[in-house]
Amino acid sequence: MKAVLFPAPESISLERVNDPECGADEVVVQVARCGICGTDLHIYRNEYMSDFPLVPGHEFGGIVVETGRQVTGLRVGDRVAVDPNLYCGHCDFCRNEMANHCLNWQGIGVTRPGGFAEYSAVPARACYLLPDTISDAQAAFVEPLACVVHALNRLQVSPADQVLILGAGPMGLLLVQALQRTGASHVVVVEKQAERLHLAYELGATQTVLAGHDQDEHLRAVAPHGFAIVIDATGVPAVIERAFTYLRPRGKYLQFGVAPKDVRVSVNPYDIFRNDWTIIGSFALCYTFLPAIDWLASGAIDVGPLVSHTAPIEQFVDVFTQFAAGSTLKVHINPGGPA
Ligand SMILES: [Zn+2]
Ligand SMILES: [Zn+2]
Repeated sequence: MKAVLFPAPESISLERVNDPECGADEVVVQVARCGICGTDLHIYRNEYMSDFPLVPGHEFGGIVVETGRQVTGLRVGDRVAVDPNLYCGHCDFCRNEMANHCLNWQGIGVTRPGGFAEYSAVPARACYLLPDTISDAQAAFVEPLACVVHALNRLQVSPADQVLILGAGPMGLLLVQALQRTGASHVVVVEKQAERLHLAYELGATQTVLAGHDQDEHLRAVAPHGFAIVIDATGVPAVIERAFTYLRPRGKYLQFGVAPKDVRVSVNPYDIFRNDWTIIGSFALCYTFLPAIDWLASGAIDVGPLVSHTAPIEQFVDVFTQFAAGSTLKVHINPGGPA
């Protein structure tokens, strides 16, 4: 089969490799769509917990084409989305409802072969059946949306909270829609690319502000005393540092964007004390695939406009380079598509 390989950090090749073997408790999924995500960039640059060589790809869905002999809940022909996070189920964190902090965590497309390939062998327990109404493109959004649902579970939005989101990439655009459906009164978005800002508005942002020297003035006009919730969806240290200046007393700050591992930002502890601030992290997802599927199936979250490119696997290097340069939104790879 054809597969994308990261043979070593900072290198990519398209290879012909053996079809995956199906373990007793596994199924083989023929990948219909697999999304490129910022985490793939971190993996490529060896800034994440991956081993090389690696077939990357952790946002995917497809059709079951083979089932291992111990598998009972899935059949050939089933359409599934794959949760790439493999939890052991018996460590202290798994037994305490914190499976995303599993001490024996494995990641499909992170520590074992993923979805940028025609086929992927995955544990049956990682598969979630999809309703027929969910398209292949939507199926590849279940994982990123599940991360958003986990963030909302962490955040606990109160009725009519005013929310500020910094960054309108694919994740920021999912957050806009999710927060509109979670009780926020205002969802204000700051972003440096005008087209992304326009899309944020179309998808339900109550106000959009172009990032720049006069953004503070615009934001103060909307929320003179600051926002109840400020979310960083950029991972950019300078943006994160500034984010706290927009937080009102008793406000909550959510670190959603993935910042480079070794950076530091400066926050004034007196401000945290004086303002009753809450600072929240949100890592990956935790048993949130089902709500994500429900949100997509009900049409509450529109992911169509978030896909800027759908490409066959042969074009992976090209679209990955464009993605890295920030000139795309979500890019989907269709490994079974025409070359
Ligand atoms: Zn991802
Ligand atoms: Zn565990």
